[in-house]
Amino acid sequence: MARKGFTTQLVHCDRLSHLEHGAIHAPVHHSVPYGYDDINDLIDVFQGKQAGHAYARQSTPTTDSLSHKITQLEHGHASLVFGTGMAAICATFLTLLKQGDHLICSRFVFGNTSSVMATLQGYGIAVTLVDATDIEQVKQATQANTKMVFVETIANPVTQVAALVEIGDWCQQQSLVYAVDNTMTSAYLFQPTKVKASLVINSLSKYFGGHGNALGGAVTDTGLFDWSQYENIFAGYQKGDPKMWGLNQIKKKGLRDMGGSLSGDAAHLLSAGVDTLALRMQRQCSNAMALANMLAQHPKVSRVYYPGLSSHPQHQRAQGLFADFGAILSFDLAPSHDCCALLNHLQWVIGATHLGDNRTLALPVAQTIYFEMGLAARQQMGISENMIRCSIGIEDSVDLLADFEQALAKV
Ligand SMILES: *Cc1c(COP(=O)(O)O)cnc(C)c1O
Repeated sequence: MARKGFTTQLVHCDRLSHLEHGAIHAPVHHSVPYGYDDINDLIDVFQGKQAGHAYARQSTPTTDSLSHKITQLEHGHASLVFGTGMAAICATFLTLLKQGDHLICSRFVFGNTSSVMATLQGYGIAVTLVDATDIEQVKQATQANTKMVFVETIANPVTQVAALVEIGDWCQQQSLVYAVDNTMTSAYLFQPTKVKASLVINSLSKYFGGHGNALGGAVTDTGLFDWSQYENIFAGYQKGDPKMWGLNQIKKKGLRDMGGSLSGDAAHLLSAGVDTLALRMQRQCSNAMALANMLAQHPKVSRVYYPGLSSHPQHQRAQGLFADFGAILSFDLAPSHDCCALLNHLQWVIGATHLGDNRTLALPVAQTIYFEMGLAARQQMGISENMIRCSIGIEDSVDLLADFEQALAKV
Protein backbone atom coordinates (compact mmCIF):
# COMPACT_ATOMS: atom_id res chain seq x y z
CA MET A 1 0.00 0.00 0.00
CA ALA A 2 1.28 3.49 -0.82
CA ARG A 3 2.38 5.47 2.20
CA LYS A 4 -0.38 7.71 3.55
CA GLY A 5 -0.03 10.94 5.49
CA PHE A 6 1.93 10.94 8.74
CA THR A 7 -1.03 10.61 11.11
CA THR A 8 -3.16 8.35 8.91
CA GLN A 9 -0.28 5.91 8.73
CA LEU A 10 0.40 6.23 12.43
CA VAL A 11 -3.07 5.69 13.88
CA HIS A 12 -3.71 2.65 11.67
CA CYS A 13 -0.29 1.11 12.17
CA ASP A 14 -1.23 -1.44 14.87
CA ARG A 15 -4.50 -2.45 13.24
CA LEU A 16 -2.87 -3.16 9.88
CA SER A 17 -0.68 -5.83 11.46
CA HIS A 18 -3.82 -8.03 11.73
CA LEU A 19 -4.54 -8.05 15.45
CA GLU A 20 -6.85 -10.64 16.97
CA HIS A 21 -10.53 -9.80 17.61
CA GLY A 22 -10.29 -6.66 15.45
CA ALA A 23 -8.36 -4.86 18.22
CA ILE A 24 -7.04 -1.47 17.18
CA HIS A 25 -4.25 -1.36 19.78
CA ALA A 26 -1.56 -4.03 19.91
CA PRO A 27 -2.16 -6.02 23.10
CA VAL A 28 0.22 -5.77 26.05
CA HIS A 29 2.13 -8.98 26.60
CA HIS A 30 3.45 -9.35 30.12
CA SER A 31 4.98 -12.77 29.68
CA VAL A 32 8.69 -12.89 30.43
CA PRO A 33 9.48 -16.33 28.91
CA TYR A 34 8.14 -17.59 25.57
CA GLY A 35 7.52 -21.34 25.23
CA TYR A 36 7.67 -23.56 22.13
CA ASP A 37 6.00 -26.96 21.53
CA ASP A 38 8.92 -28.10 19.42
CA ILE A 39 12.23 -27.35 21.13
CA ASN A 40 13.82 -26.94 17.69
CA ASP A 41 11.81 -23.76 17.24
CA LEU A 42 13.29 -22.35 20.46
CA ILE A 43 16.74 -23.33 19.22
CA ASP A 44 16.09 -21.54 15.92
CA VAL A 45 14.98 -18.40 17.76
CA PHE A 46 18.15 -18.50 19.86
CA GLN A 47 20.28 -18.98 16.78
CA GLY A 48 18.54 -16.20 14.85
CA LYS A 49 17.26 -18.59 12.18
CA GLN A 50 13.64 -17.87 13.03
CA ALA A 51 11.91 -14.71 14.22
CA GLY A 52 10.37 -15.03 17.67
CA HIS A 53 10.73 -14.18 21.31
CA ALA A 54 12.67 -16.04 23.97
CA TYR A 55 12.93 -13.76 26.98
CA ALA A 56 11.38 -10.32 27.58
CA ARG A 57 14.69 -8.56 28.24
CA GLN A 58 15.40 -8.80 24.50
CA SER A 59 11.95 -8.46 22.97
CA THR A 60 8.24 -9.10 23.36
CA PRO A 61 5.42 -8.81 20.84
CA THR A 62 4.56 -5.48 22.55
CA THR A 63 8.00 -3.92 22.22
CA ASP A 64 8.22 -5.25 18.67
CA SER A 65 5.04 -3.51 17.62
CA LEU A 66 6.31 -0.23 19.09
CA SER A 67 9.64 -0.70 17.27
CA HIS A 68 7.76 -1.27 14.04
CA LYS A 69 5.80 1.96 14.53
CA ILE A 70 8.99 3.94 15.14
CA THR A 71 10.62 2.46 12.04
CA GLN A 72 7.64 3.59 9.97
CA LEU A 73 7.66 7.11 11.43
CA GLU A 74 11.40 7.48 10.89
CA HIS A 75 11.34 5.91 7.39
CA GLY A 76 14.00 3.57 8.74
CA HIS A 77 15.04 -0.03 8.21
CA ALA A 78 14.54 -1.39 11.74
CA SER A 79 14.39 -0.15 15.34
CA LEU A 80 15.07 -1.29 18.87
CA VAL A 81 13.38 0.10 21.97
CA PHE A 82 14.85 0.63 25.43
CA GLY A 83 13.67 1.54 28.91
CA THR A 84 14.89 5.14 28.54
CA GLY A 85 16.51 7.41 25.98
CA MET A 86 19.77 7.25 27.92
CA ALA A 87 19.72 3.44 27.80
CA ALA A 88 19.43 3.70 24.00
CA ILE A 89 22.28 6.22 23.79
CA CYS A 90 24.62 4.32 26.10
CA ALA A 91 23.93 1.01 24.40
CA THR A 92 24.80 2.60 21.04
CA PHE A 93 28.12 4.05 22.20
CA LEU A 94 29.21 1.09 24.31
CA THR A 95 28.49 -1.56 21.70
CA LEU A 96 29.74 0.18 18.54
CA LEU A 97 32.84 1.88 19.95
CA LYS A 98 35.83 0.36 21.66
CA GLN A 99 39.09 1.36 23.30
CA GLY A 100 41.26 3.34 20.89
CA ASP A 101 38.33 4.65 18.86
CA HIS A 102 37.47 8.31 18.45
CA LEU A 103 34.02 9.88 18.67
CA ILE A 104 33.10 13.38 17.50
CA CYS A 105 30.24 14.76 19.54
CA SER A 106 28.41 18.05 19.37
CA ARG A 107 29.35 20.34 22.25
CA PHE A 108 25.68 21.22 22.53
CA VAL A 109 24.01 18.04 23.70
CA PHE A 110 21.59 16.93 26.39
CA GLY A 111 23.32 17.21 29.79
CA ASN A 112 23.32 13.50 30.58
CA THR A 113 24.67 12.64 27.13
CA SER A 114 27.42 15.15 27.76
CA SER A 115 28.14 13.40 31.08
CA VAL A 116 28.45 10.05 29.25
CA MET A 117 31.32 11.53 27.20
CA ALA A 118 33.50 11.62 30.31
CA THR A 119 32.60 7.98 31.04
CA LEU A 120 33.59 6.94 27.52
CA GLN A 121 36.92 8.72 27.86
CA GLY A 122 37.55 6.72 31.02
CA TYR A 123 37.14 3.57 28.93
CA GLY A 124 39.77 4.72 26.44
CA ILE A 125 37.41 6.07 23.79
CA ALA A 126 38.64 9.51 22.74
CA VAL A 127 36.01 12.21 22.37
CA THR A 128 36.27 15.57 20.61
CA LEU A 129 33.53 18.08 21.34
CA VAL A 130 32.79 20.41 18.44
CA ASP A 131 30.46 23.24 17.56
CA ALA A 132 28.31 21.08 15.27
CA THR A 133 26.65 24.11 13.70
CA ASP A 134 29.94 24.47 11.82
CA ILE A 135 30.89 21.66 9.42
CA GLU A 136 34.52 22.83 9.36
CA GLN A 137 34.88 21.92 13.04
CA VAL A 138 33.64 18.40 12.33
CA LYS A 139 36.02 18.04 9.40
CA GLN A 140 38.97 19.31 11.41
CA ALA A 141 38.20 16.95 14.30
CA THR A 142 38.16 13.86 12.07
CA GLN A 143 41.11 11.51 12.65
CA ALA A 144 42.15 8.11 11.29
CA ASN A 145 40.47 6.36 14.24
CA THR A 146 37.22 8.36 14.13
CA LYS A 147 34.28 5.97 14.03
CA MET A 148 31.20 8.03 14.75
CA VAL A 149 29.73 11.53 14.78
CA PHE A 150 26.93 12.23 17.26
CA VAL A 151 24.68 15.29 17.07
CA GLU A 152 21.25 16.46 18.11
CA THR A 153 18.87 18.18 15.69
CA ILE A 154 17.96 21.20 17.83
CA ALA A 155 20.16 21.50 20.90
CA ASN A 156 18.89 22.17 24.35
CA PRO A 157 18.75 24.77 25.91
CA VAL A 158 20.30 27.29 23.45
CA THR A 159 18.48 25.78 20.39
CA GLN A 160 21.47 25.61 18.05
CA VAL A 161 20.71 23.68 14.86
CA ALA A 162 23.54 21.40 13.76
CA ALA A 163 24.87 21.44 10.18
CA LEU A 164 22.88 18.26 9.63
CA VAL A 165 23.12 18.05 5.83
CA GLU A 166 26.83 18.86 5.63
CA ILE A 167 27.73 16.43 8.43
CA GLY A 168 25.73 13.72 6.66
CA ASP A 169 27.67 14.26 3.45
CA TRP A 170 30.98 14.24 5.34
CA CYS A 171 30.14 11.05 7.24
CA GLN A 172 29.15 9.32 4.03
CA GLN A 173 32.39 10.37 2.35
CA GLN A 174 34.49 9.27 5.35
CA SER A 175 32.45 6.11 6.13
CA LEU A 176 31.65 7.32 9.63
CA VAL A 177 28.59 6.24 11.60
CA TYR A 178 26.32 9.27 11.77
CA ALA A 179 24.12 9.11 14.87
CA VAL A 180 21.43 11.77 15.15
CA ASP A 181 19.37 12.32 18.30
CA ASN A 182 15.98 13.37 16.90
CA THR A 183 14.26 13.82 20.28
CA MET A 184 13.81 17.59 20.05
CA THR A 185 12.28 17.56 16.59
CA SER A 186 10.60 14.13 16.60
CA ALA A 187 9.74 12.29 13.40
CA TYR A 188 6.90 14.74 12.82
CA LEU A 189 9.19 17.72 12.26
CA PHE A 190 12.16 15.90 10.78
CA GLN A 191 13.44 12.53 9.67
CA PRO A 192 17.25 12.25 9.92
CA THR A 193 17.16 9.68 7.09
CA LYS A 194 16.90 12.77 4.85
CA VAL A 195 20.38 13.91 5.90
CA LYS A 196 21.88 10.43 5.50
CA ALA A 197 21.95 9.55 9.20
CA SER A 198 23.05 5.98 9.92
CA LEU A 199 21.30 5.75 13.28
CA VAL A 200 18.45 7.81 14.69
CA ILE A 201 18.01 8.02 18.44
CA ASN A 202 14.82 9.11 20.13
CA SER A 203 13.91 9.59 23.75
CA LEU A 204 10.33 8.36 23.66
CA SER A 205 9.78 9.98 27.06
CA LYS A 206 9.49 13.39 25.40
CA TYR A 207 7.34 14.42 22.40
CA PHE A 208 6.81 10.85 21.23
CA GLY A 209 4.84 9.77 24.32
CA GLY A 210 3.95 13.37 25.11
CA HIS A 211 2.03 12.83 28.33
CA GLY A 212 4.86 12.65 30.85
CA ASN A 213 3.71 9.23 32.05
CA ALA A 214 6.25 6.80 30.61
CA LEU A 215 9.98 6.60 29.92
CA GLY A 216 11.39 4.99 26.79
CA GLY A 217 14.10 5.24 24.17
CA ALA A 218 14.76 3.96 20.66
CA VAL A 219 17.52 3.43 18.13
CA THR A 220 16.52 3.22 14.48
CA ASP A 221 18.87 2.01 11.76
CA THR A 222 18.11 3.93 8.59
CA GLY A 223 19.64 1.21 6.43
CA LEU A 224 22.05 3.74 4.90
CA PHE A 225 25.28 2.66 6.60
CA ASP A 226 27.30 -0.26 5.26
CA TRP A 227 28.02 -2.31 8.38
CA SER A 228 30.04 -4.84 6.37
CA GLN A 229 32.77 -2.13 6.28
CA TYR A 230 32.63 -1.39 10.02
CA GLU A 231 35.57 -2.80 12.00
CA ASN A 232 33.82 -3.24 15.33
CA ILE A 233 31.18 -5.81 14.43
CA PHE A 234 31.94 -9.02 16.32
CA ALA A 235 32.61 -11.99 14.03
CA GLY A 236 29.55 -13.82 15.35
CA TYR A 237 27.27 -11.01 14.22
CA GLN A 238 28.71 -10.76 10.71
CA LYS A 239 26.02 -12.91 9.19
CA GLY A 240 22.68 -12.42 7.51
CA ASP A 241 21.62 -9.06 6.04
CA PRO A 242 24.52 -6.60 6.62
CA LYS A 243 21.94 -3.84 7.11
CA MET A 244 21.07 -5.52 10.41
CA TRP A 245 24.60 -6.08 11.72
CA GLY A 246 24.85 -2.81 13.64
CA LEU A 247 21.42 -2.98 15.23
CA ASN A 248 21.84 -6.66 15.98
CA GLN A 249 25.06 -5.92 17.85
CA ILE A 250 23.33 -3.13 19.79
CA LYS A 251 20.55 -5.58 20.60
CA LYS A 252 22.80 -8.42 21.78
CA LYS A 253 25.60 -6.51 23.48
CA GLY A 254 23.50 -3.55 24.56
CA LEU A 255 19.86 -4.40 25.19
CA ARG A 256 20.35 -8.08 26.10
CA ASP A 257 23.60 -7.82 28.06
CA MET A 258 23.14 -4.41 29.69
CA GLY A 259 19.45 -4.93 30.21
CA GLY A 260 17.92 -1.47 29.77
CA SER A 261 14.66 -3.01 28.55
CA LEU A 262 11.31 -1.33 28.05
CA SER A 263 8.32 -2.75 29.96
CA GLY A 264 5.16 -3.76 28.14
CA ASP A 265 3.07 -1.26 30.08
CA ALA A 266 5.38 1.63 29.22
CA ALA A 267 5.47 0.50 25.58
CA HIS A 268 1.69 0.59 25.47
CA LEU A 269 1.46 4.09 26.99
CA LEU A 270 4.05 5.40 24.52
CA SER A 271 2.35 3.68 21.62
CA ALA A 272 -1.03 5.22 22.46
CA GLY A 273 0.53 8.59 23.28
CA VAL A 274 2.18 8.96 19.89
CA ASP A 275 -1.16 8.80 18.05
CA THR A 276 -1.53 12.56 18.55
CA LEU A 277 2.11 13.52 17.88
CA ALA A 278 1.33 15.69 14.83
CA LEU A 279 -1.55 17.51 16.55
CA ARG A 280 0.44 18.15 19.70
CA MET A 281 3.53 19.32 17.83
CA GLN A 282 1.53 21.74 15.67
CA ARG A 283 -0.02 23.30 18.75
CA GLN A 284 3.23 23.32 20.72
CA CYS A 285 5.18 24.90 17.87
CA SER A 286 2.60 27.64 17.31
CA ASN A 287 2.45 28.37 21.05
CA ALA A 288 6.26 28.52 21.15
CA MET A 289 6.37 30.94 18.21
CA ALA A 290 3.78 33.21 19.83
CA LEU A 291 5.63 33.22 23.15
CA ALA A 292 9.00 33.79 21.44
CA ASN A 293 7.60 36.85 19.66
CA MET A 294 6.13 38.21 22.87
CA LEU A 295 9.30 37.67 24.91
CA ALA A 296 11.56 39.08 22.17
CA GLN A 297 9.76 42.41 22.52
CA HIS A 298 9.65 42.44 26.31
CA PRO A 299 11.91 45.02 28.01
CA LYS A 300 12.76 42.66 30.89
CA VAL A 301 14.03 39.96 28.52
CA SER A 302 17.52 40.42 27.13
CA ARG A 303 17.60 37.54 24.67
CA VAL A 304 15.33 34.82 23.28
CA TYR A 305 16.64 31.58 21.81
CA TYR A 306 14.16 30.05 19.37
CA PRO A 307 14.90 28.85 15.82
CA GLY A 308 11.65 30.35 14.57
CA LEU A 309 12.88 33.91 15.18
CA SER A 310 14.54 35.44 12.12
CA SER A 311 17.30 36.70 14.46
CA HIS A 312 18.28 33.10 15.36
CA PRO A 313 21.70 32.24 13.84
CA GLN A 314 20.41 29.05 12.20
CA HIS A 315 16.91 30.28 11.35
CA GLN A 316 17.34 29.64 7.60
CA ARG A 317 18.77 26.18 8.18
CA ALA A 318 15.91 25.23 10.49
CA GLN A 319 13.40 26.51 7.97
CA GLY A 320 14.91 24.40 5.23
CA LEU A 321 15.12 21.21 7.30
CA PHE A 322 12.18 21.06 9.69
CA ALA A 323 8.41 21.16 9.24
CA ASP A 324 8.30 23.68 12.09
CA PHE A 325 10.67 25.19 14.65
CA GLY A 326 10.06 22.99 17.67
CA ALA A 327 8.72 23.81 21.09
CA ILE A 328 11.81 24.45 23.18
CA LEU A 329 12.47 28.06 23.82
CA SER A 330 14.93 29.64 26.20
CA PHE A 331 15.42 33.22 27.22
CA ASP A 332 17.75 35.33 29.32
CA LEU A 333 16.06 37.53 31.80
CA ALA A 334 17.70 40.97 31.90
CA PRO A 335 20.52 40.78 34.50
CA SER A 336 18.84 43.05 37.03
CA HIS A 337 15.93 40.61 37.42
CA ASP A 338 15.84 37.33 39.31
CA CYS A 339 14.91 34.35 37.13
CA CYS A 340 13.87 32.25 40.15
CA ALA A 341 11.45 34.97 41.27
CA LEU A 342 9.95 35.01 37.78
CA LEU A 343 9.46 31.25 37.84
CA ASN A 344 7.77 31.46 41.24
CA HIS A 345 5.32 34.03 39.87
CA LEU A 346 4.18 31.79 37.01
CA GLN A 347 0.80 30.29 37.85
CA TRP A 348 0.19 27.76 35.09
CA VAL A 349 3.69 27.05 33.88
CA ILE A 350 5.13 24.24 35.99
CA GLY A 351 8.63 24.54 37.46
CA ALA A 352 9.94 21.16 36.37
CA THR A 353 12.62 19.49 34.31
CA HIS A 354 11.57 17.26 31.38
CA LEU A 355 10.39 18.42 27.98
CA GLY A 356 7.93 17.50 25.29
CA ASP A 357 5.08 17.31 27.78
CA ASN A 358 1.53 18.47 27.06
CA ARG A 359 1.97 20.97 29.90
CA THR A 360 4.37 23.92 29.72
CA LEU A 361 7.40 23.38 31.95
CA ALA A 362 10.15 25.83 32.81
CA LEU A 363 13.34 25.85 34.86
CA PRO A 364 16.42 27.93 35.61
CA VAL A 365 19.10 26.25 33.48
CA ALA A 366 22.37 27.11 35.26
CA GLN A 367 21.01 26.16 38.67
CA THR A 368 19.51 22.79 37.64
CA ILE A 369 20.16 20.72 34.49
CA TYR A 370 23.51 22.38 33.75
CA PHE A 371 24.60 22.90 37.36
CA GLU A 372 26.85 19.84 37.66
CA MET A 373 29.16 20.83 34.77
CA GLY A 374 30.15 24.15 36.37
CA LEU A 375 30.43 27.75 35.18
CA ALA A 376 33.28 27.34 32.68
CA ALA A 377 31.53 24.53 30.78
CA ARG A 378 28.27 26.46 30.81
CA GLN A 379 29.97 29.47 29.28
CA GLN A 380 31.46 27.26 26.56
CA MET A 381 27.96 26.04 25.77
CA GLY A 382 26.60 29.58 25.63
CA ILE A 383 24.44 29.13 28.73
CA SER A 384 23.96 32.33 30.69
CA GLU A 385 23.39 32.34 34.46
CA ASN A 386 20.01 34.03 34.04
CA MET A 387 18.61 31.65 31.45
CA ILE A 388 15.20 30.05 31.66
CA ARG A 389 14.31 27.06 29.52
CA CYS A 390 10.71 26.48 28.58
CA SER A 391 9.21 23.35 27.10
CA ILE A 392 6.01 24.64 25.58
CA GLY A 393 2.84 22.62 26.02
CA ILE A 394 -0.56 22.51 24.38
CA GLU A 395 -2.34 25.01 26.64
CA ASP A 396 -4.39 27.75 24.99
CA SER A 397 -2.00 30.34 23.68
CA VAL A 398 -3.75 33.31 25.33
CA ASP A 399 -3.41 31.72 28.77
CA LEU A 400 0.21 30.90 28.25
CA LEU A 401 1.13 34.41 27.10
CA ALA A 402 -0.92 35.99 29.89
CA ASP A 403 0.87 33.88 32.48
CA PHE A 404 4.29 35.09 31.31
CA GLU A 405 3.02 38.69 31.04
CA GLN A 406 1.79 38.77 34.62
CA ALA A 407 4.89 37.06 36.01
CA LEU A 408 7.20 39.42 34.12
CA ALA A 409 5.23 42.38 35.46
CA LYS A 410 5.98 41.23 39.02
CA VAL A 411 9.76 40.86 38.82
C1 LIG B 1 15.60 13.54 27.46
C2 LIG B 1 16.58 13.39 26.40
C3 LIG B 1 17.39 12.24 26.33
C4 LIG B 1 17.30 11.15 27.37
O1 LIG B 1 16.06 10.52 27.37
P1 LIG B 1 15.44 9.80 28.67
O2 LIG B 1 14.28 9.08 28.08
O3 LIG B 1 15.07 10.85 29.65
O4 LIG B 1 16.49 8.89 29.20
C5 LIG B 1 18.29 12.14 25.29
N1 LIG B 1 18.41 13.11 24.36
C6 LIG B 1 17.66 14.22 24.40
C7 LIG B 1 17.85 15.25 23.34
C8 LIG B 1 16.74 14.41 25.41
O5 LIG B 1 16.00 15.52 25.44
